[in-house]
Amino acid sequence: MRLLRPILSLVLVLVTTLLVSCSSPTQAKIPTVYTPEKIAQLESFLSPIASAREKMDTLKGFIEAQNWTDTRTFIHGPLGELRQDMTIMSRKLLPKDQQPAQNLAKELFSHFDRIDAAAKDRNSAFAQAQYLEAIKDFDAYLNLIPTNS
Ligand code: ZN
Repeated sequence: MRLLRPILSLVLVLVTTLLVSCSSPTQAKIPTVYTPEKIAQLESFLSPIASAREKMDTLKGFIEAQNWTDTRTFIHGPLGELRQDMTIMSRKLLPKDQQPAQNLAKELFSHFDRIDAAAKDRNSAFAQAQYLEAIKDFDAYLNLIPTNS
């Protein structure tokens, strides 16, 4: 196995090179970098997502206070539109970033669902752990979005 791995990666490189050179006319049409214009366009879609990220501190406060009613209301209310905003944003990214962004958004909302379930069960430890996981996925999502600054 130890020998096989470098050979396999070499084969992969060769195959990829071959594929790229064969399909270069169509490949050239797929954008692979963010132009400043594109980034400026993305910024308008970013603002509701960035403001939702700022609101995550409010959610943290509710969880720490074991205020389960407000925790659940918050997930379904202020964070309710985030899913749609993230889906729209994911589709505006470069083709190579779309799937990772969609996966992270999906992950994030699975953590919100678990926080919601934890709030229902008044399970403080689980809610806090899921909150931390949600923050990780949220920040990873934001890291995929280019900025001009
Ligand atoms: Zn996760």
